[in-house]
Amino acid sequence: MERRDFLKRSALAGMGFALMPSLLQACKKEDDFVVNFSGRVIIIGAGAAGMMAAYTLNQYGIDFDLIEAGGSFGGRVKKATNLTNFPIDLGAEWLHDDPETLGTLVNDPNAQGSVEMISYQPESIMHWDGSSLTQMNVGSQFYREYKFKNTTWYDFFNDFIVPSISSKMYLNEPISSIDYSGAQVTVTSSNGTTFTGDKVVVAVPASILQQQSIDFNPALPSSTMQSINGIDFPPGIKVFIKFSEQFYPDICSIGTIVPGEKIYFDGAFKKDTNHNLLTLFYVGNGANELTDLTDAEIFTAVMNELDAMFEGKATQHYLAHIIQNWSTEPYIQGSYSHSGSGVISPVENLVYFAGEAFTDGASSTVHGAGFSGRDAARSILQGN
Ligand SMILES: Cc1cc2nc3c(=O)[nH]c(=O)nc-3n(C[C@H](O)[C@H](O)[C@H](O)COP(=O)(O)OP(=O)(O)OC[C@H]3O[C@@H](n4cnc5c(N)ncnc54)[C@H](O)[C@@H]3O)c2cc1C
Repeated sequence: MERRDFLKRSALAGMGFALMPSLLQACKKEDDFVVNFSGRVIIIGAGAAGMMAAYTLNQYGIDFDLIEAGGSFGGRVKKATNLTNFPIDLGAEWLHDDPETLGTLVNDPNAQGSVEMISYQPESIMHWDGSSLTQMNVGSQFYREYKFKNTTWYDFFNDFIVPSISSKMYLNEPISSIDYSGAQVTVTSSNGTTFTGDKVVVAVPASILQQQSIDFNPALPSSTMQSINGIDFPPGIKVFIKFSEQFYPDICSIGTIVPGEKIYFDGAFKKDTNHNLLTLFYVGNGANELTDLTDAEIFTAVMNELDAMFEGKATQHYLAHIIQNWSTEPYIQGSYSHSGSGVISPVENLVYFAGEAFTDGASSTVHGAGFSGRDAARSILQGN
């Protein structure tokens, strides 16, 4: 995927300052439009897209149920607090856009609070070709990428989006069927719980639709299924290792993965911490060489690679680790769309699609997923 291309990422210019956009200033409410809908909406999937669809409907006083298969909201936005003394993003970690985007997502002039961001510009950059490490030339181009300084993507949703939608969020309800054969839509979970509404927003990963884990009645049109099946959704994993010393550079690319990316990076980069965290990010074709393994085998493979790269220092300084295998998450089943994504038209003005794969803007990103959820909600609100 272009925007995560390592060569571009490693070509960051040296700004290196902390940004603290005040959401109070950034949250100008966008122009209102005529609301032409007064029913109830069922939203399936409480990732960035589903949450933003719910949040937008709530802003316009529209009733909704937000139904999530897993035990928490967030989807591919997830955090861990048990490895280091700062919270770790187990999934999405970078904001691949300007920090003001967070304010645009919140879209509420009354929102309280701020988010401190760091401009992500690694200084020490290396490449491992399988036998030797080489220093990379940073170059002078600028590439726009940011990270949360002391918080995470999960905290952003938890603090700014979830409070106004949590009372209508249902967890541990994996939806197994959507019946839109009548005037209303009936959605049923594998627990047997049913939810009824006038429209449904399907905000589950493309992989879940490709595997037909949800039965649609009537079946989705073949053109819709063709678009969904055309999405390339390769495997993905992150491995987080805490070390007693930092023996690695800010970022190190591994081999050439097309499409996709394999990098080790300093997960504590510019965080307020004395802990050392090295993160492996491996997404794309070939990542199944790890995602197909057991956690114990993954750990051994990663440590062997690091020991080869850094002359045994990984084993020497190892303290603890976490493996987040996104391909074995039952309700994710992979990483994110790499090609073939795009907006899918609503089916019979009853079934709407949202998610990182179903946006014509920033596909494969959290903010892109969020905007797609917001756009699906707006489309319903406008009676489209
Ligand atoms: C390893 C990795 C690293 C990434 N890094 C970045 C990054 O640095 N920056 C960035 O912007 N993006 C990154 N991304 C991509 C980003 O995480 C996604 O684009 C975004 O979070 C997707 O949001 P979504 O709402 O479309 O889907 P999801 O977050 O997947 O949400 C979909 C939800 O639907 C639920 N669901 C599935 N099936 C059902 C069902 N049958 N019934 C009910 N609910 C169901 C799932 O449990 C999930 O909660 C990364 C992704 C991965 C995997």
